[in-house]
Amino acid sequence: MGIKDQINAINNTLKGTSARLIAVSKTEPNEMILEAYHAGQRDFGENKVQDLVSKYEQLPKDIRWHMIGHLQRNKVKYIAPFVHLIHGIDSLKLLKEVNKEGAKNDRIINCLLQVHIAEEETKFGLSESELQEIILPDTLDQLPFVRIKGLMGMATNTDNETQVEKEFENLNKLFKSVQQNHDHSALDISELSMGMSGDYHLALKHGSTMIRIGSTIFGARNYQ
Ligand SMILES: *Cc1c(COP(=O)(O)O)cnc(C)c1O
Repeated sequence: MGIKDQINAINNTLKGTSARLIAVSKTEPNEMILEAYHAGQRDFGENKVQDLVSKYEQLPKDIRWHMIGHLQRNKVKYIAPFVHLIHGIDSLKLLKEVNKEGAKNDRIINCLLQVHIAEEETKFGLSESELQEIILPDTLDQLPFVRIKGLMGMATNTDNETQVEKEFENLNKLFKSVQQNHDHSALDISELSMGMSGDYHLALKHGSTMIRIGSTIFGARNYQ
């Protein structure tokens, strides 16, 4: 199947859910992104600041760009003027930097807090207690240029579907509790970003609102 067919097929499985597709275009050339764009896709995710900036400059301006990877503090300034949503906020320090750059650009920047749900040590993310600390009113009062739109997580890379489902279910529970128990102008908790090519069907069962799909759409990636 081509890019367009893949996008249509995924959008079909999303009918009747409240989730939408973020096409992960990391490592993909502009021609392939444009093919997805012409199929109607507008949300794209990249995991490297340099690529995000150059693709933003070269591609249509109505694309909504998502920063999905680990973000270094010293690079926030490059994406602050245009990024639609930062999925990978994994420290208060990073969030403060986003706030600072939001102020400079006079725009409120949408963010997701990345929670560590996988078994692997290697994946980035906040522990539940670190998350709770960030969403304290006293902390949020100091962050007028960020809006926390929800949570993001990556499940363990395993064939054990029971385990993956358990991790998604736990993240969904946390998402709901944050949504219900916190009321602050910096919080607008409505998005739960979880699910990739290998596990998005499971993520959808557990309330994902954003699935981040790369290889199913574009084929296996060639890392340089
Ligand atoms: C690469 C990547 C994806 C997409 O992975 P696929 O398996 O190609 O669908 C999703 N989320 C993040 C954070 C990624 O880095």
